[in-house]
Amino acid sequence: MSQTPTQTTLPLLPGPLSDGSMATLGVLGGGQLGRMFVHAAQALGYETVVLDPDAGSPAGHVSQHFIHADYRDAQALRDLATLAGAVTTEFENVPAESLAALAADRPVSPMADCVAIAQDRIREKAHFTRCAAAGGVAPAPYAVIESEADLADVPDALLPGVLKTARLGYDGKGQARVATRDELAAAWQQMGRVACVLEQLLPLAAECSVIVARGRDGQVVSLPVQRNLHRDGILAVTEVFEDNVPPALAQQARAATEQIATELGYVGVLCVEYFVLQDGRLVVNEMAPRPHNSGHYTVDACDVSQFELQVRTLAGLPLTAPRQHSAAVMLNLLGDLWFDVVDGEDVPRTPPWPALLALPGAHLHLYGKAEARRGRKMGHLTFTAADAASVRATAQQACALLGLEAF
Ligand code: ATP
Ligand code: MG
Repeated sequence: MSQTPTQTTLPLLPGPLSDGSMATLGVLGGGQLGRMFVHAAQALGYETVVLDPDAGSPAGHVSQHFIHADYRDAQALRDLATLAGAVTTEFENVPAESLAALAADRPVSPMADCVAIAQDRIREKAHFTRCAAAGGVAPAPYAVIESEADLADVPDALLPGVLKTARLGYDGKGQARVATRDELAAAWQQMGRVACVLEQLLPLAAECSVIVARGRDGQVVSLPVQRNLHRDGILAVTEVFEDNVPPALAQQARAATEQIATELGYVGVLCVEYFVLQDGRLVVNEMAPRPHNSGHYTVDACDVSQFELQVRTLAGLPLTAPRQHSAAVMLNLLGDLWFDVVDGEDVPRTPPWPALLALPGAHLHLYGKAEARRGRKMGHLTFTAADAASVRATAQQACALLGLEAF
């Protein structure tokens, strides 16, 4: 690839530069998060380059430059560094070594070290525990399981529990609920005896998440607390409006998230997921070193979206505290919505878009995926309104139109 190397000192200013070149931002991963990053970067006047192993990736479709390669391909990473003035990631399991290699040539955020911690539940929980000791929010009681001896040492108090692989879990995959020691041993065997954590199964009243952005200069801004409903281990609904969770709890979650980012020396956008227990306590669950599905509403309901925050932190531009201007409900659109079941068989259908778009405050986002499959995230619908009651009512109408369970 014969490209003039771009500027690598921050800030990387948007638009045509004085030498006639355009600053280009790079992203590892071409899924929907990468696509929305590209949209935000382009809106600000940057060109973009996406690297993804899938030739038909959602972000690759909309980016000026696309590198079709494996995340570990050394030549492809060099090409990415040549084209891009700075590089971020949208994919949590991108090899940390690839980020580290890129960082030798270009500003990279988030940094490889932070991504490596978020990729490993054992290191992630250790970080949460350190933050809790410094006044933050604690994770669920847990034990690390890496050997037969660890299994034997598990305290009774952790059962019933949830066994989770330390690495590569998402959307509820790589997890098993276990009630007894026998079930625990069987589940660990089933998972191939890889490193795991066993967490106590907690009585949840609700789940929520908080997204923060932290700049290289240490400035941190946070988005409002998102209340999340999962179905079959996948995020289904996010509700964001005043009093979606008790205000004191929201305050605590935002402060804890800022602390988690600051203690990591994190640069970029970070999402932290929490449980709200039935007794009202807050427990930290896990973090994602990137924008998050629960933050998609920010595109339509806030004056600065999570993706624009990702662009700003990457390019070294100023951060401003985001302001939510509309109450919002987001519904995830899974591939299941593209099928009717007739006589036990899947029959393709098209969701009723005109009726949905006739609802007030509807914002449809489809990710450009050509093939609908059950469980695949195809897009989302965000509803905005002046108040919580109106936005909830409209989103419930949308659920009825889509054949989704009410929430
Ligand atoms: P994601 O798609 O968010 O990355 P994941 O597969 O990494 O999900 P978790 O977020 O750890 O997994 O767990 C998935 C869901 O399982 C949680 O949102 C929650 O509903 C439930 N869950 C996980 N851990 C516990 C626990 N200790 N007690 C009760 N419920 C739990
Ligand atoms: Mg989760």
